[in-house]
Amino acid sequence: MLHGMKLPFAEPLTVIPPGPRVVPEPPRRGEPGGEPCGICDQDEGIWADANWVLHNPVGASLPGTLWLASRLHVDSFKDLPAELVADFGRVAALVEGAILSLGDIARVHMYRWGDGAAHFHVWFMPRPLGMLDATRFALPVWEDNLPQASASDIEQTGNAVAAALVAKAASTASAG
Ligand SMILES: [Zn+2]
Repeated sequence: MLHGMKLPFAEPLTVIPPGPRVVPEPPRRGEPGGEPCGICDQDEGIWADANWVLHNPVGASLPGTLWLASRLHVDSFKDLPAELVADFGRVAALVEGAILSLGDIARVHMYRWGDGAAHFHVWFMPRPLGMLDATRFALPVWEDNLPQASASDIEQTGNAVAAALVAKAASTASAG
């Protein structure tokens, strides 16, 4: 039923219908009528450039899980200026490569949920090599349910990703 994926819960799971729709939906953070945007006053994260800031998560079970936000407060891809839409491909490739350079990682999944803050951000999540239960959309469910990594593990892994990004930027600059 889950096409090769497995969720971190004992089976059998039972399929249930969704609840009634809520329309209009409550405003998201950073939308008119909603709570203030918490990303607009972001710090410089673990790595940043003119357009983007890369952040460690507050908590995570899989170190190397990171979120990337635009400096600009816009909601989604469709709201980004054209130069940032194009630049997103560049920065996403850089971040993916930097996380993969940690080693022991099969894939880096990128999730753009869009149901939380109305300030453009995406999540990068590493799937540990060989963890085939957690392919595709099962990975964030596992991430949410595995034991939490220590704050120092999250910080050290974030620092390693940031160092890889700085090294890559330096080599790109010298190649140009
Ligand atoms: Zn914002």
